[in-house]
Amino acid sequence: MRLRAMAKINLGLDVLRKRPDGYHEVRMIMQTIQMYDVLTMEKSKKGEVSLKTNLPYIPTDRRNLVYQAVELLREEFQIQEGVNLELEKFIPVAAGMAGGSSDAAAAFVGMNRLFQLGLSEKDLMERAVRIGADVPYCIMRGTALAEGIGEKLTPLPSLPFCYILIGKPGINVSTKMAYEKLNLKEISHHPDIDGMVRDIQKGDLYSLIPRMENVFEPGIVKEYPVIARIKDCMMTHGALKAVMSGSGPTVFGIFDREDTLQKACEELRKSRLAKTVFATQIFPGTGR
Ligand code: ATP
Repeated sequence: MRLRAMAKINLGLDVLRKRPDGYHEVRMIMQTIQMYDVLTMEKSKKGEVSLKTNLPYIPTDRRNLVYQAVELLREEFQIQEGVNLELEKFIPVAAGMAGGSSDAAAAFVGMNRLFQLGLSEKDLMERAVRIGADVPYCIMRGTALAEGIGEKLTPLPSLPFCYILIGKPGINVSTKMAYEKLNLKEISHHPDIDGMVRDIQKGDLYSLIPRMENVFEPGIVKEYPVIARIKDCMMTHGALKAVMSGSGPTVFGIFDREDTLQKACEELRKSRLAKTVFATQIFPGTGR
């Protein structure tokens, strides 16, 4: 069985407060894009889980979220058979694009099909949150408002069609470090998430775009000025807006013309500011 694990970007990201348990309450507008890892799954008579990946620095044991998702369902349903997994990574790692979470989401969907567990999407999402706050969204996909720690999801109408340029500099930002650096009391301005939801409901891309913002961006940009340079490069070459995704460092640019997208992609490659440059489009979230 081959499954696509799709990446996400955050069209908007706000952090409201830190809860007593240490988690942060967020409000995010999530969007799936056409960029994916490929997860291959097959049953194995050996009775254990094995995982191979194309990237040597990704763990292939219990530390991998795919492994955790498979084991969670194997334990609950007392599945004796093993599973051989192969994960081909294309989504940049530690990049704010939910790569690991999306791989885990694909593993939940794959286990459900492979062993005919009969779980609904809602059943899978309830279990998925135990692996990570973004995993339920990665099961649902499409355009959504994510609240709570990211697990309270409200599906939104599909975004009007648009092109996306991804630029990830050759640095990794840990989500934990990004939260630690975020001083909530110092944030004087918060993204207008409610305004964004209204624009998406109206299907008004051009009113939505100026509202796209990420509360992590100023702090992370201060630390890594290359992010601002990637944004500038995209804006100079016709992006309607360029914003950092998640806790960074990936920048995405939005375009409404394919020729402009391709030209900006070429220029960003030439600039050598980003290690990963990828021109793509949004994914409406239907079908797997
Ligand atoms: P998010 O947008 O949810 O914050 P991210 O892009 O910051 O995600 P990931 O790419 O998911 O981060 O991975 C972060 C770390 O998690 C990696 O450094 C890696 O060691 C570990 N990890 C565990 N499972 C995976 C996986 N399937 N793919 C990539 N990394 C994984």
